[in-house]
Amino acid sequence: MTPAAHAVEIRNLHKHFGKLEVLKGIDFAVDPGQVVCVIGPSGSGKSTLLRCVNLLEQPTSGRVVLEGVELTDPDVDIDAARRRVGMVFQQFNLFPHMTVLQNVVIAQRRVLGRSAAEARRIARENLEKVGVAAKADAYPAQLSGGQQQRVAIARALAMNPALMLFDEPTSALDPELVGDVLTVMRKLAEEGMTMLVVTHEMAFARDVADRVVFMDGGVIVEDGPAAQVIGAPRHERTKSFLRRVL
Ligand code: ADP
Ligand code: MG
Repeated sequence: MTPAAHAVEIRNLHKHFGKLEVLKGIDFAVDPGQVVCVIGPSGSGKSTLLRCVNLLEQPTSGRVVLEGVELTDPDVDIDAARRRVGMVFQQFNLFPHMTVLQNVVIAQRRVLGRSAAEARRIARENLEKVGVAAKADAYPAQLSGGQQQRVAIARALAMNPALMLFDEPTSALDPELVGDVLTVMRKLAEEGMTMLVVTHEMAFARDVADRVVFMDGGVIVEDGPAAQVIGAPRHERTKSFLRRVL
């Protein structure tokens, strides 16, 4: 393991599904404490990129280096590396038959081997942080979508990730519930969490992201400071995408 300048580094990443080439040579890095937002049209490969970062998808070629550990190296302990990455999906993926507290406890017990008491303590701390501690004993179905998504964030945080991936975390929410989730994400960013966020929330990207990456057709078209990519895009494809979403 080499000293990690980057939290995650992606080099010449390609991903094919059969004949379909979805990622066509992606290069970028996220530094510790940075927030990078990925924007782009539907089908451009954003989710696939995130899924390659925590090896939910196996890249066809290229390198994914997490904290100096090359995930694409066959000798690497993938489970150990994957544990360093938290992921929050559009669909919250909570276990419906478990309480909120149990949802946040279970992976800590099974994956990290924490004691029941410690896992519960850490679960409560993180539920507090995302503002749903009062719902600890409720079941997911008794919560609003925004509350469920915040539980999913607490569950990921309880694993002490080095990097948090968010794939359109507010896209499935009713509009009035989006703000609470973005507020939690903003707080995480301010606390220095390293975050890679696929989002259509341009105001969030502009205000919170250190960098914005615009993807189209499996390539990065533009990567730069949020104010520049969103405020003064250089490429016609970025401009035309932003005209449609802003
Ligand atoms: P985005 O998140 O930007 O909307 P995706 O990464 O989900 O884009 O998808 C990019 C392309 O890859 C789409 O054409 C999609 O249909 C295709 N794709 C995604 N996952 C699979 C899969 N498991 N098998 C085949 N094609 C897939
Ligand atoms: Mg997607």
